[in-house]
Amino acid sequence: RCGYVAIVGRPNVGKSTLLNHLLGQKLAITSRKPQTTRHNMLGIKTEGPNQIVFVDTPGLHGDADKAINRYMNRAAKSAARDVDVVVFVVERTRWTQGDQLVADKLRGLKTPLIIAVNKADQFGDKGELLPQLQALAEQHPQAEIVPISALRGLNLDTLEEVIVERL
Ligand code: GDP
Ligand code: MG
Repeated sequence: RCGYVAIVGRPNVGKSTLLNHLLGQKLAITSRKPQTTRHNMLGIKTEGPNQIVFVDTPGLHGDADKAINRYMNRAAKSAARDVDVVVFVVERTRWTQGDQLVADKLRGLKTPLIIAVNKADQFGDKGELLPQLQALAEQHPQAEIVPISALRGLNLDTLEEVIVERL
């Protein structure tokens, strides 16, 4: 199987880290500073008969007054429409306005959706996320929720299986 997979989410949730881990190589720039990835980055993974093209999106940014933010929002939105699978990355213990912005953009999206709950290695209260995940599950009845740690490589094989099933 082959297809395109977009990785979306607010800045700093670990999109680029995830892509690097899935590809087994450093492709996307990662840093603490948001907006390190300004353009959509492509990474191709070939494994047996499967070939996946990953699209690392720059993330959505609230302040649409800035031209660079408008550009990045456009890049992320068109990526989500033009792919076979969308992976929405969120953080296990934190839900921000940025996450909500992405969730709102994904509303009504026909593309199969996977919600990757990242930073599963971090301790802390995950209660904050439960109502948000419930709301997402209601809006996207077919969506799969997969807990992962992009940094430690936890459960990424499951994530890949779930992605390939949907291609
Ligand atoms: P992006 O803006 O969504 O592309 O996020 P990055 O991939 O640049 O990661 C932002 C920060 O989160 C970096 O400091 C990463 O090391 C960190 N990070 C990413 N994944 C994990 C994870 O699974 N666990 C922990 N503890 N930190 C992570
Ligand atoms: Mg990034």
